[in-house]
Amino acid sequence: MKHVVIIGGGFAGLNCARQLASHSDVRITLIDKNNFQQFQPLLYQVATAMLAPSNAAFSLRNILQRHSNVDVKMGEVVSIDLETRTAETAEGQRYQGDYLVLAAGSQANFFGTPGADKHTYPLYSLHDAESLRSRILAVLESADRDPSLIAKGALNFVIVGAGPTGAEMAGTLGDMTHRMLKDVYKDLDLSKAQIFLVDLGHSVLSTFSQKSQVYAARMLEQRGVQVRLGTAAKEVTSGHVLLSDGTRIPTRTVIWAGGLKASSLASNLGVPPGHGGRIDVQPDLGVKGFPGVYALGDFANIAGRDGKPLPQLASVAEQSGKRCAKNIAAAIAGEPGEPFHYFDKGIMAMIGRNAAVAEVGEHRHEIHGPIAFAAWLGVHATLLTTARAKIETFVEWGWDYFGKVHGDPVLDRTSQVNINWNDDEEEGQDRI
Ligand SMILES: Cc1cc2nc3c(=O)[nH]c(=O)nc-3n(C[C@H](O)[C@H](O)[C@H](O)COP(=O)(O)OP(=O)(O)OC[C@H]3O[C@@H](n4cnc5c(N)ncnc54)[C@H](O)[C@@H]3O)c2cc1C
Repeated sequence: MKHVVIIGGGFAGLNCARQLASHSDVRITLIDKNNFQQFQPLLYQVATAMLAPSNAAFSLRNILQRHSNVDVKMGEVVSIDLETRTAETAEGQRYQGDYLVLAAGSQANFFGTPGADKHTYPLYSLHDAESLRSRILAVLESADRDPSLIAKGALNFVIVGAGPTGAEMAGTLGDMTHRMLKDVYKDLDLSKAQIFLVDLGHSVLSTFSQKSQVYAARMLEQRGVQVRLGTAAKEVTSGHVLLSDGTRIPTRTVIWAGGLKASSLASNLGVPPGHGGRIDVQPDLGVKGFPGVYALGDFANIAGRDGKPLPQLASVAEQSGKRCAKNIAAAIAGEPGEPFHYFDKGIMAMIGRNAAVAEVGEHRHEIHGPIAFAAWLGVHATLLTTARAKIETFVEWGWDYFGKVHGDPVLDRTSQVNINWNDDEEEGQDRI
């Protein structure tokens, strides 16, 4: 039996493993630092307490249990020898394959912004989403207990990056503070909440059409979001954000949606990383110079039809995982692999209740508003990995929409609760 080692059980690695599992002459070892797949598109809903963490994370063992030729190993891969196709974990285990698949995804890119790595909340993992949810709830609880903290920025939320993640987060925070939690925090004046969406670029949702951008900006403003374009976050401390136009915003909650780069594993592979620190791949997803080694999804620069790298999207990761599995099966059978062709179904982003943008298919047929909102819910529920998650998530959304019963604002991470409200050195100079 040929042995395939897959690093990363996200959209790319998991789809590769599932597709390969039907080949009885293949044995697969899937290694991930978590024992679950995290569903990033719904993380902002976990962070805003709309969904429970269990709606956005799925046990890899459960998903793969019916495939007797797939073994899941939980471990963080810390080094890789591409020549011998061997991965070594932090715990010292080594896994050598006839084929090696690199699908370790992305991590936040702080672009060297001082303080950003220490004082912001990125949104890439389930852990990130749960920490952020606890921080949002912790500042609300603090301001509810002591309204004088509002002047210290307790109800100021700053989101850096106006792409889909930032826009979705900002819009939902607007819905959360101005609608969902109004009756829950009876004593707290949530009209004082301020949400800032900051981006160095000159548009919200820059990869969408201009019409979608204008619509998204309008929907955000309706939700009380203050959009600051052409503006960068220059510095982040424990108590404030300094913007490039000189504005200093006191805040304890800065959300980093400002960019991604490949997971740290890409930087010590011994091949020069390409754009975004990702690994450049050949049309069949193979890594040049290393037969039997493939890179997929967010970890790779995969050229689209125009020669430019495809975007970091779940659909790209999923489809590249399936193509990689087919190419490995072909290689085992002594046949050539085929180039990866991305089937572009379009892009969508949700701004909040009844407000979304969708650009469907390669020709980007545009839909805005409640229809796009319904389409977003339908598409994302369908994408969810397990049948149980699809049903549960639909029920949650139904409760929220029709029953006006929102997710539980449970503050379960004590690490985010203890905020030292006096630890920002330049306090007193606040101006927004
Ligand atoms: C907040 C957010 C919202 C998004 N929304 C959308 C959306 O609406 N639609 C859409 O199409 N795309 C969306 N995306 C993008 C999409 O989630 C990614 O493109 C997709 O997850 C990439 O899949 P992947 O398998 O390449 O990486 P991932 O899904 O990130 O999987 C990588 C896996 O590798 C594991 N791993 C990493 N390093 C190691 C290591 N050293 N050792 C072992 N395991 C490791 C990780 O634990 C993870 O399980 C969103 C992304 C984010 C962050």
